[in-house]
Amino acid sequence: MGAEKNVTGAGIFEAPALGEPYLLTPGPLTTAYSVKQAMLRDWGSWDGDFRAMTADLRRRLLALTGDTKGEYDCVPMQGSGSFCVEAMLGSFVPKDGKLLVLANGAYGLRAAQTMQYLGRAYTLIDKGDYLPPRGDEVAAALDADPAITHVIAIHCETSSGILNPVLEIANAVYSRGRKLLVDSMSAFGAVALDVNDIPYEAMVSSANKCIEGVPGFGFVIAKKRELEAAKGNCHSLSLDVYAQWAAMEKTGQWRFTPPTHVVAAFIEALKMHEAEGGVPARGARYEKNRDVMVAGMRGLGFETLLAENWLSPIIVTFFCPADEKFVFNRFYDLMKEKGFIIYPGKLTVVDSFRIGCIGRMDEHVMRRVVEAARQSLAEMGVTDAAPPNAALEERAKLAA
Ligand SMILES: *Cc1c(COP(=O)(O)O)cnc(C)c1O
Repeated sequence: MGAEKNVTGAGIFEAPALGEPYLLTPGPLTTAYSVKQAMLRDWGSWDGDFRAMTADLRRRLLALTGDTKGEYDCVPMQGSGSFCVEAMLGSFVPKDGKLLVLANGAYGLRAAQTMQYLGRAYTLIDKGDYLPPRGDEVAAALDADPAITHVIAIHCETSSGILNPVLEIANAVYSRGRKLLVDSMSAFGAVALDVNDIPYEAMVSSANKCIEGVPGFGFVIAKKRELEAAKGNCHSLSLDVYAQWAAMEKTGQWRFTPPTHVVAAFIEALKMHEAEGGVPARGARYEKNRDVMVAGMRGLGFETLLAENWLSPIIVTFFCPADEKFVFNRFYDLMKEKGFIIYPGKLTVVDSFRIGCIGRMDEHVMRRVVEAARQSLAEMGVTDAAPPNAALEERAKLAA
């Protein structure tokens, strides 16, 4: 089965393999045909060829951080993104430390839940579904509790799509002499997280987000000093970032069976990322995807949860229309029939759905997404996609 060339004029973007829908979801996402093709080979995990691939992967990821002083290192870890968040927290927050979790959605709350499992001290600022944690409240929380040693911020909170103000947060954290950990899972590779602008001790991301690889592993990028200091701190053998790092430095191998095919696919994805123009170009394509898609959806009457300045180029939350003929599951099926998998919402107060802007697709695809939404509304008999008043009142709180 070959790749179908995109007939919309996008040129470099082939459609997913024949018959596959586009995944408008924040990972797994639509990958390039060549990324899938890179998996059609077997590698021995201890063999020199694969060890060279691991070294290449680490070098390429470090090159995206802006670290020119060799201060940081990259440690790939098996498992999905949450495994890496748990590895980061268990390895870098000392047993007698205390973590401040900044939550405004599911992923912040998951970090708090992870601390609960670890049995290590934490405190939570929970901003609800979508309000951003601000620098001044972080500073106040740190001033009020001298026991706090670390802070975790979610870069893009994928549950609403909000791009949190990490620079403001980093400034508050370091002005108070504390340490920052970042979950940049859904932003790294498309939204700048340059160590020269935003200092951090460690961050995590995974293969199947903005680098456009397939799922199977994640990676921690951390200061070498913090990696050294993490020795003996982790609660878990398999999630011990220090042990993984030390073994990789010594042998060039992963400690336990690596996802060899996923690594091969990821290296191809990293090469494509570089060829596209790196972080700025990847971010610009996603921003264009978002702008075209949001403008089109607004043209149909849909409204976004977030105001313009908080909209990320990763994923956008829309309110479900007030019209009672709108039924999300039916809308989902109609969109899927037209070749697009969308994502249910995660808000607790009002009904919503999400459309992702990341993956191997461009603005031409996004125009087709909008056209598919227009047709789907018509098929349901929905003439106005405007949200209920309750949704707009919710949103007004964000501006306040
Ligand atoms: C995707 C994601 C994760 C990890 O989720 P997994 O399902 O474990 O891969 C963590 N944090 C954020 C912000 C994410 O977007």
